[in-house]
Amino acid sequence: MIEAEDSLRILAKRLKAEIEDLLAELAPESAYARLKPLLDGLMPEIYRSYDAFVSAVLETGPERISCSKGCSHCCSHYVTSVEPYELLFLHGKIRESPEYPSRVVGMHRRAALFNSLRDGKQDEEAEDRALYRYYLRNQPCPFLGEGGKCGVYESRPISCRMFFSLSHPSLCKGKSVVEPGNRNFLIELPEDIEADLARAGALFAGMRLPESLFEGLLKVNETFGRFDGSAGIDGPGPTGS
Ligand code: SF4
Ligand code: SF4
Repeated sequence: MIEAEDSLRILAKRLKAEIEDLLAELAPESAYARLKPLLDGLMPEIYRSYDAFVSAVLETGPERISCSKGCSHCCSHYVTSVEPYELLFLHGKIRESPEYPSRVVGMHRRAALFNSLRDGKQDEEAEDRALYRYYLRNQPCPFLGEGGKCGVYESRPISCRMFFSLSHPSLCKGKSVVEPGNRNFLIELPEDIEADLARAGALFAGMRLPESLFEGLLKVNETFGRFDGSAGIDGPGPTGS
């Protein structure tokens, strides 16, 4: 565990320092061409170290988790707390794929649905209510593929990597998430690593990227992307795609 934690600590500091150096000369919007190779080099290393840290934490626990390959009820959550560099990295990975346009449409639909569930309010309470209501609508992530596999597994954000359960997978579904028997939990990072990763994210403040996976990627798509999916393409609407 110490080894995985230390390597993540070093990488988080490196990420922050390298982004800082790069953005000292250029605004994030005009630095995309130079940010991309930096993130392509560092993010896979960060995610590998993060996964090693998580595995080490899970091994020390007295109980085994219930999560397994293909189990994916949790991929119907509206994913939040995604750092700007994660959005930029993921966007760089998906923007050339043939599925990109349909994914953009899927994200537009989900973002619109989520925002319609906020009762017109922007406070934290309204957000929490909307997160729960959204989950009950059972809208699997547009990146979820056949057999419950994540279509962007190697590049998925930390928010998707930190979520586990000690209870039966059926308790991760619909209203069961708020039942007392549900034992979903998150693996938090040590504070100093979390702080360095957050500082690296804060360097992109000027871009005003939303923290949610779908709205964040849509904003990156608007700025650097190549597909306007707001009008939609043929396919099922918010309750069926
Ligand atoms: S959190 Fe729940 S739904 Fe997600 S993989 Fe684990 S058991 Fe399955
Ligand atoms: S990005 Fe992948 S892991 Fe995250 S919610 Fe979507 S399908 Fe699931």
